[in-house]
Amino acid sequence: MGGVVFAFGSIASAAEPPSSSWVIMGASVADGTGKPLVAQDVRVSGDRIFEVGKLTPSAGERVVDGKGLVLAPGFIDVHNHSEDGLAADPLAQTQVSQGITTLVIGPDGGSPWPIGEYLEARRVSPAAVNVMTMVGHATLRELVMGKDFRRKATPAEIAKMAGLVAQGMREGAAGLSSGLEYDVGSYASTEEMIALAKAARGGFYMTHVRDEAEKTFPAFEEAIEICVKGGLPLEISHIKLATVGVWGQAQRTIQLVEKARAGGLDATADCYPYEAWHSNLEVIVPDKQYDNPASVAEALRVLGGPSRITVTSCEAHPAYAGRTLEEIARDEGMTPVALYSKMVREGGADIIGHSMREEDVLVLYKQPWVMVASDGGIDNDHPRGAGTFPRVLGRYVREKRLFTLEEAVRKMTSLPAARMKLADRGRIAPGMKADLVLFDPATVIDRSTFAEPRKLSEGIVLTVVNGEPVWKDRKTTGARPGRVLEGPSAQARPGPGVQ
Ligand SMILES: [Zn+2]
Repeated sequence: MGGVVFAFGSIASAAEPPSSSWVIMGASVADGTGKPLVAQDVRVSGDRIFEVGKLTPSAGERVVDGKGLVLAPGFIDVHNHSEDGLAADPLAQTQVSQGITTLVIGPDGGSPWPIGEYLEARRVSPAAVNVMTMVGHATLRELVMGKDFRRKATPAEIAKMAGLVAQGMREGAAGLSSGLEYDVGSYASTEEMIALAKAARGGFYMTHVRDEAEKTFPAFEEAIEICVKGGLPLEISHIKLATVGVWGQAQRTIQLVEKARAGGLDATADCYPYEAWHSNLEVIVPDKQYDNPASVAEALRVLGGPSRITVTSCEAHPAYAGRTLEEIARDEGMTPVALYSKMVREGGADIIGHSMREEDVLVLYKQPWVMVASDGGIDNDHPRGAGTFPRVLGRYVREKRLFTLEEAVRKMTSLPAARMKLADRGRIAPGMKADLVLFDPATVIDRSTFAEPRKLSEGIVLTVVNGEPVWKDRKTTGARPGRVLEGPSAQARPGPGVQ
């Protein structure tokens, strides 16, 4: 594929622009590699970038004025929960308004199944954005073990799961995802995960680690062990230090990952730019003793107290939405601990926990192996779903100067493209696919909040997917040029069917 790309580039410099081409003139190009901005023109032909440099529009050629704006490769979101959203809202307004052009779905151990069928449905009814998927560990575990999953799997069950992982990879998954803090995945042994990692060879292992609370470090170590023994690159999902006992330990986290990298493991992580997470009520009590006052009290303590937990939705008590556990407990005249146990018994709730410290988020974010990802999606109750990428550009780059704009773009483009093994996306160069975003570096900002999580971001002027504008003049264009991008095993499959 590399050879084809370079040939395309050299042909481009000699040939006349094709009649269907158009040009973006005078933008500052952040090419995705982290190199300094350079004023360049970019010509797009069909679904590819045709040439880059000092260009002259030919007669009748459509011109987009990029002056004062930054042109970057389209953003690639490696942790996205739009499994259902892509079918329900294929124009993906909350995504393309952030400059996202490729979504990776199926994280946290939960994926569509069968992979081939899901991807075929996306081909038949495309979205505005490209889509890739992971194959989810919990999805397969439940498929093999049924509702009897609250135990270790037998060797026969593990073998069966491994067969399904291999099938998912053949059908187009990019790798294996797990959510070992969640109900189905949490009963898996490390050995089970190593066996399944081996079955995902060629891909990578993306994990919501076993514990994001007081046992965060053993959980990181387990993730590294699974990848070293399973022979897969590692992506730590939404890396965070989210409880009192691990606050301030960003340096220890960095040392742990860098030691693994120095030892030869291709380890990276992603991070969303918020100090609050979004999950379910059960996940905060690691020993699952939801009725044990001591366990619940300890869980609330390590998160910084019940005032830091906000309910976003609760089926049994819709009126709880938008209030903290502390406020609800006071209104109900019960202790937060008793309230918690009662709510779990009555079906649980979705919650947001404001339990990270900004200092830790910023130190982790600066690491060159940490990429930007939303953990959001088309229709999300956390503001990260509609705001992640502009928030990094507006708040972390422009306001805090945490890193350069070029570095931020690299974290959103070539770094995730390398993780996903997308050889022809994530950079601006002749022959690459024309996934592009044009934005105003002076105004780009998120507007979504915990009260209004779907409020659209500002400052993204134009988003282009496979050569076609999908976001322009502050609205979706109606175009749905998004493609299914398959993982490495499916690409190696003989015969037609690639992309
Ligand atoms: Zn997660």
